[in-house]
Amino acid sequence: MFKKNQLVFKKYLNNFCEDIHCKKRVILSFYKYFLIINPENLFNFLQFHLKNKNVLGRIYISKEGINAVISIPFILYNYFKRFFRNLYSKTRKMYINYFFENKKIAFWDLRIKIKNQLVSSKIINFNFYPNNCGIYLNASLVNKYLFNKNFIFVDMRNSYEYEIGHFSNSLSIPSKTFREQLKKLPYYLNSYRDKNIVLYCTGGIRCEKSTALLKYYGFSKIYHIYGGILSYIQQVKQNNLPNYFKGKIFVFDSRLFKKITNDILSKCITCKKNTNRSHINCFNNFCHRLFIQCKKCSIKLNSCCSVECRRILYKKIYL
Ligand SMILES: [Zn+2]
Ligand SMILES: [Zn+2]
Repeated sequence: MFKKNQLVFKKYLNNFCEDIHCKKRVILSFYKYFLIINPENLFNFLQFHLKNKNVLGRIYISKEGINAVISIPFILYNYFKRFFRNLYSKTRKMYINYFFENKKIAFWDLRIKIKNQLVSSKIINFNFYPNNCGIYLNASLVNKYLFNKNFIFVDMRNSYEYEIGHFSNSLSIPSKTFREQLKKLPYYLNSYRDKNIVLYCTGGIRCEKSTALLKYYGFSKIYHIYGGILSYIQQVKQNNLPNYFKGKIFVFDSRLFKKITNDILSKCITCKKNTNRSHINCFNNFCHRLFIQCKKCSIKLNSCCSVECRRILYKKIYL
């Protein structure tokens, strides 16, 4: 694997020498849960092979698998797809989401980290069994079940992600972190035990854990969207299916979002009217809450989330 990869890369470099710094870049996101006995070995291998190859982004490795969002020159798309799929036998069929990087630059450097867990979700008394996750749904099944009364769709992202875009008919579990959301999940869905429950998130990784958790709590009809919203959108485009994901989606961190449809789902926190503006943090630093506010209300409240916060802000400035 080691030598073969280097040879292939050299071949690519020779062919595309001038294009390697080309501006057209593509973002790959993928994950795979499987036992990695020695994460340090993989860490060293990736450091060696990815540094100085114009690869940017984040790669997390842990004993439970790998999770990555990286930006690469478009010209090396096929090379890197193969590179990551060839890492282990378990990654051979790994699903890799991709999309073109737009004008905003996604990453400035490459960070590879060894972590205890791929997504932090420490829950007492719960051992995660990757093999015991829910049943995968593709885009056409998602469309089929979305308006079926026997199915409940649940958004497994943070509240601020749900606010700007989500599937029509889906529930949100109000929370700021994934850990908080996982804790609430079984109780929140308890009254839907007899229904088919479909979970979804951006790229699918969170639902590997959340569906396994629900099954651990005795829920039986549990599904999740294969490859998450990103894959759904791709499948819908490729197969000319109707798209039921409305609004915008945050990709890989809270700074960048992708517009999927022109629908404006977000509402001003103050006057509750629809607004197309982005999230801001409350200007009162003691609050620092993340919210959406229309221009008019923002001016009125000096970009504070509430009258109370505006009062505190003024006290600080004038006293
Ligand atoms: Zn407003
Ligand atoms: Zn505030």
